[in-house]
Parts: sequence; structure tokens; C-alpha cells
Amino acid sequence: MLKKLVGVHIERKKKTKYLNIETMEPVEYIKIPLYRDLKEIVNIGEYVKKGQELAKGEQTPSLHSSISGVVENILIGNVERDNYTKLIVIKNDFEENTLETHYYEAEDDIMKFFDTDKFFEYIKEKGIIGMGGGAYPTYMKLKSAYEKKVHTLVINGCECEPYLNCDNRLMQEKTKEIVEGINILTTILDIKNIVIALEDDKKEAFLEFKKIIKNYPRISVKLLKKIYPLGEERILIKEIFRMEIAKDELPLNRGYLVQNVATIYAIYEALFNGKGTIERVITIAGEGIEENKNLKVKIGTPLKDIINYLGINERLKKIVIGGPMTGKTVYDYNNVYVQKNYGGFLFLSKEEINDRKTEACIYCGTCVDKCPMGLLPLRFEELTNAKEVEELKLIRIEDCIECGVCTYVCPSNRPLLETIVIGKKMVREVGKSDK
Ligand code: SF4
Ligand code: SF4
Repeated sequence: MLKKLVGVHIERKKKTKYLNIETMEPVEYIKIPLYRDLKEIVNIGEYVKKGQELAKGEQTPSLHSSISGVVENILIGNVERDNYTKLIVIKNDFEENTLETHYYEAEDDIMKFFDTDKFFEYIKEKGIIGMGGGAYPTYMKLKSAYEKKVHTLVINGCECEPYLNCDNRLMQEKTKEIVEGINILTTILDIKNIVIALEDDKKEAFLEFKKIIKNYPRISVKLLKKIYPLGEERILIKEIFRMEIAKDELPLNRGYLVQNVATIYAIYEALFNGKGTIERVITIAGEGIEENKNLKVKIGTPLKDIINYLGINERLKKIVIGGPMTGKTVYDYNNVYVQKNYGGFLFLSKEEINDRKTEACIYCGTCVDKCPMGLLPLRFEELTNAKEVEELKLIRIEDCIECGVCTYVCPSNRPLLETIVIGKKMVREVGKSDK
């Protein structure tokens, strides 16, 4: 019998749940970091249009300019914490001079143009990555799904992290576009069965989808009981289809492709409007910022400009990129720029963060009881601290999905996830040197 999903119930979404998406005013400079194998294809002093390709990679999806203006600099800079990488700096001319791109008016038109290889290349060229946080190149995942002949597409609209509502708003305000994106994607990949999955606090989005999918018999929409971390791929599949996928097996190998809803919207924009991923919706929330919003922001917008736009206050204690469970703490907001996989910026007050003292483990077992993957977080911590890499492997530290539930529930406030991330890295390093 399948085990009931364990996890935690955390609210804190109400403040931004009913706020419509607003577009942020343009800023003077954008700064776009180049990661992995991306190489710039523009030069200092060159004029670029909005939507123009700035950088390309062998493997990594392209980067595009989200404004028109002049490439003022290409330099090695600090991005987030201790992360030095190349940055393209563009000065805005505020003309919104946009590159003309080919786009398709209807599904028939798209189907005539694309064979699957061309389609994957196009998705790469338009810079689409997993926008739910993972940042995995979408073309690679779709190609793999096609080769493995997957039968089911699950659209992940759970957005289970507290505070975040960017996907929720997108699903309500761009429902038709998302459904059209799903339809064309599954026609190209020949996927027969589609389920849009939402947590049951998103009834408004559920009803919008219900209206639109009447004309799409292959698509269904399902409300699932809200619990964190429902959005993890294996957990989501288990909750929808009541079947378990082994921890060391990929859902794709069992015929399931899971895509985040914002990624589907990016695919729609690329196909029907010829757009690269140059902007995204992010949730700005917390008591430390004057206004909470769901904001459409250009990729490369400096966080300090968002702060100037909305105004921080004296209650601010901590800034987080993403959600509070899996997000990254910001140590210097001068080095942070909006990237494609950022779903939010949280400006948290003392009351909103956990600043309790760390105490010794009392062996209460709560972290074990609440781990959704059935793992042993407290042993991971002990073995990581003792550098027992072989033992860590044996008790499958690599199966940890880094959801942060163990840290959240620990009465002694142990930094379990932080230590687990170190432990996983140690296991990977040993794995590499064994090869
Ligand atoms: S051990 Fe990993 S999967 Fe389990 S609760 Fe902790 S972070 Fe989540
Ligand atoms: S929840 Fe915290 S105190 Fe309890 S067993 Fe786990 S690490 Fe120890």
C-alpha cells in the first residue's frame, strides 16, 4: 500500500494571492550573468535591440537582451555570494526597440514549420529553462521525453513554497495561453494524456482552467491537498496517479514528463509571439518591504532597483531569493540580478524568520517522521560532520530533494539542510575521484 504523503502545512500566501500581475518600470541598466558554457556574441559599444541574442552555448540555452540600448561593459563580476562570473551590462535607451522575429499565428502554421529536431533547437535558441527553480535546459528535457516516448505530461502548478504566488497569478491571467502552449507542445511530442495539477488553495486558477479545457479533451485538471513539498516531481506523480517511482529512477523513464507552468508559458511566448525568455513574473513579499507585489520584471534587473522601486523598511532582517524553504539568502543585494529561474524575492522581518538558537539534538525523531522521502536527516548530519562518506552513500543521502522540511520542523533548530547539502557534495566529490 502507498504511504500517505508527509510534509508540513505552512500558510503565508494570502498577502499576494489576489494581487494582479503588474509590470515594473524600466530601469537604467540591466546586468546579465553568463553561466556554464555561455559565450557572449556581442561586443562592448554595440547597440542591441530588445530580444536580441547576447550569448550562446553548446549546451546551455541562449540569453537575450530584455531592453534596447548599448552594451556598456562585459566584465567579470560578483554575482550573489562569492560567485564570480562574466556579466553583460547594458545601458537602457528606453526606446523598447524590439527585434523583429518570426512567429506563428496558429497551430497549423507551427506544425508545418517544425520537425521535432528543429523544435528542440528553437526552444534552446529562445533561452527556455525550467522556470520553477531548477533552471534545467528545457530543450534537453523535452528531447529526452520525446526519445523515451512519454505518454503523460504533468503540468506542475502546485507552487507549494510559502509566500510565492507568481505561478498562481500567471495561471489565472494567462490561462488560455498556457492551455494553447500545452496543446501545441503535446502535439509536437505526441503525448496523449495531460494533467494540470494544482494545490487546493488555488481554486480560482482551477476554475479558469476548467472553463478553457472544455475544448481540449486530452487535458484534465486536478486539485490536490495542499502540503509542502507536493511540487517535487516524484511526489506529484505519486499523489496524482497513486503510483510510486523509485528514488533512483527518473519519471521520464516511466513515461511521465513534468513541466512547471511558467515554463509552458515561456514555450507559448516563443512559439506564438517569437519571444525569447526576457522577462518573468516574480512575487515580492514579506514585512520588510513597503509593497508586496506580483511583478513582471525584465531578466537582468538589479535587485537594488526593485528595492528602490518598492522601498524596504526598518523591519527587514533577511532577503531571500525564491521561497523560504529552498531559497537562497542574499548577503549583498548589490550583486543580485533577476534570473529566469527566480520565482520571488522575500523581504522578511524578525517575526518571519527563524532566528532561534541552535541546540543539541534531542533525538525526538521529528525530522525523520516528517521527511517526505523517508530519509534519516539526523543521521545525515552526524555522518557529514564525521565525514563518513561511505556511510552517507549507504543511507542514500543523494535521495534528499533538499526540501528543507527537516530543518523547518526541528525543535532544536539544527541546520540540517545546510549540512545535508555539504554531505551530498562530499559524496559527489568522492564519486568523481573514483571514476
Ligand atoms: S532529508 Fe532532504 S528530503 Fe528529507 S526532509 Fe530533509 S531536506 Fe527534505
Ligand atoms: S528533529 Fe532535530 S532534535 Fe529531533 S531528531 Fe531531528 S535533528 Fe534531532
